[in-house]
Amino acid sequence: ATQLTTAQDSAFVVDSPNVAYSDAEILSKYNYRTTQIKRVDDKVVAQPKSSVYDFKTQRNVGKVGVMLVGLGGNNGTTVTAGILANRRKLQWETREGPRAANYYGSVVMSSTVKLGTDSETGNDVNIPLQSMLPMVHPDDLVIGGWDISGMDLAAAMDRAQVLEPTLKSLVKKEMAAIKPLPSIYYPDFIAANQGDRADNIIPGSKACPEHVEHIRKDIRDFKAAHGLDKVIVLWTANTERYADIIPGVNDTAKNLMDSINAGHEEVSPSTVFAVASILENAPFINGSPQNTFVPGCIEFAEQHKAFVGGDDFKSGQTKMKSALVDFLINAGIKLTSIASYNHLGNNDGKNLSSQKQFRSKEISKSNVVDDMVAANNVLYEKDEHPDHTVVIKYMPAVGDNKRALDEYYAEIFLGGHQTISIFNVCEDSLLASPLIIDLVLVAELMTRIQWRHDGEQEYKSFHSVLSVLSYMLKAPMTPPGTPVVNALGKQRSALVNILRACVGLEPENDMTLEHKLF
Ligand code: NAD
Repeated sequence: ATQLTTAQDSAFVVDSPNVAYSDAEILSKYNYRTTQIKRVDDKVVAQPKSSVYDFKTQRNVGKVGVMLVGLGGNNGTTVTAGILANRRKLQWETREGPRAANYYGSVVMSSTVKLGTDSETGNDVNIPLQSMLPMVHPDDLVIGGWDISGMDLAAAMDRAQVLEPTLKSLVKKEMAAIKPLPSIYYPDFIAANQGDRADNIIPGSKACPEHVEHIRKDIRDFKAAHGLDKVIVLWTANTERYADIIPGVNDTAKNLMDSINAGHEEVSPSTVFAVASILENAPFINGSPQNTFVPGCIEFAEQHKAFVGGDDFKSGQTKMKSALVDFLINAGIKLTSIASYNHLGNNDGKNLSSQKQFRSKEISKSNVVDDMVAANNVLYEKDEHPDHTVVIKYMPAVGDNKRALDEYYAEIFLGGHQTISIFNVCEDSLLASPLIIDLVLVAELMTRIQWRHDGEQEYKSFHSVLSVLSYMLKAPMTPPGTPVVNALGKQRSALVNILRACVGLEPENDMTLEHKLF
C-alpha cells in the first residue's frame, strides 16, 4: 500500500526513499536537525543533534464545517459573504472598476513557498502554500454559528458597513437565509453598551451544565444537518473581560468542571464554548484577546486530546509590529520605544471603549516584542525592554476602517536616532476574515497529521495547544512551559517547515549555494 503514486490532491509528488504515498496517507520519515547547547566550565558548547520522526498525513479531507461564535458581527458576516462570493466566482462593480472575489490576505490561499530549484534553469519553483499538503478549500466550508443578536446575515452585513453595496446585493439572498443560533450571554463579561443587541439568548446568565450541553447539541445538530465529517469552532465574538484565575475555581480541569456545575460567576461564555467544543472533539480557536483558556480549560483539552488555539487575530497594527521590530532588532538597531495609537468606529471599538474589555486587548497587544528583545543580548541588558504603550479610542465615524498610528523610536550608531512613524488604515474585517480562513484550514489539517519517534509503534497527535497557528495570532498560545514566538518571519517558517517535514522535505534554508559556489 505504500508505492509511489501521483498525488491527485497536491501540486507535486516527492520522489524520495523517505516518503511514501498510499491512497489514504502520506508517510514521511524526517530527520529533525537542531543544535543543542551545553555549558562546560564557562564555555558554550554547541552540539548538532538529530532525531528521526515519522509523520503520517491523512489525505482525505472530508466535509468540513465552521461554527463562528459572533456570526452576526463584522468578521462573521464578512467572512461568510467572502466565501459565498468566492464559491460563486462573483464579480461586482466598484467606483474603481470591476472587482472579483479572491482570498487576498490569507497566507494559505494567497502566498507561495519555494518548493525547490528547477533542475534545468536553476530558477526557484514556487507553489501556493495551500498545495503543500491536502487541505480543505475555503469554498467548500459550510458556515454556521451563534450570535446574541438575532439579525439575519443580510441585515447584519448592512449593519457592519464593510462590503461594497454591489457585492452585498449579489449575496443578499443567501445571507438573508442564514440566521445565527441563540447564544449564551453573561452581561458582566462584555461591555454594558452591547446590551441593546442581545435579543437572541439562551436563558440563564451564568455558566451551567445546561449551557455546555446546549452548545454541544448545536454542534452535533449542525454536523448532522450538513453531513459533516468535522466541525471547527472559532470565537470571533466580542472581546470579554479577563476572567480572574482563582485557585479552586478554574485552575484545574476538575475545578473548572465543578465551577460550571456550581454556576460560578467567573466562568466566561467563551470558556463554556471551549469546553463544549472540547467535549465534541471540535477544535476551538479563540480570535479575541481574553483568557478563555484558563489553566483548567487547557488541562481539560489535554485530557480529551482535543485541539485548541488562540488568542486574538493578528491582523493590522500588531502584524506590522511583529515584522518591523524583528527587522529593526535583527538589523542591530536598538529600538527604545513604541507608541501605538488606534481609533476605530465599529462595534468592536464600541465594546473596547469599556475599560475591562480594553484591558484584555492592551495585555494581548503588549507582549508582542518580548521574544525579539530577549533574543538580542548585544542591544539589551537582561530584563531591559523598550517603552511600549497602546491606546485605543472609539470614533464611530471611521467605522471598520481602523486607524493605527505607530511611532518606533530607536537608537542608532554613536547616539544617533531613527524615528519611524506609520499611519496604517487597517480595514479591520477585511484583514481578519482571511485569518479566520487560515486558522480553520491549518487547524483542520492538524487533525489529520500524526507523528511518532522512529522505532515507536503508536502514532500520536500534536499537542492540544496548536502553537503552529501563531502566525495568525497576536498573543499565541503555546503548550504550557514552552516559549512563545511572536516574530512574524519565524512563525511563518515554523508553519511552512512543519508542512515540508510532512512530505519529507528539508526546511528552506535560503543558502542557494548552487548559485554561490560555481
Ligand atoms: P463585532 O462586534 O462586529 O462582532 C462580534 C459579534 O459577537 C457581535 O455580533 C455580537 O453580537 C456577538 N457576540 C457577543 N457576545 C456573544 C456571545 N456570548 N455569543 C455569541 N455572540 C456574541 O466585532 P468584530 O469586528 O467582528 O470582531 C470580533 C472579535 O475579533 C473582537 O473581539 C475583536 O477584538 C477580535 N479581533 C478582531 C480583529 C479585526 O477585526 N481585525 C483583530 C483582532 C481581534
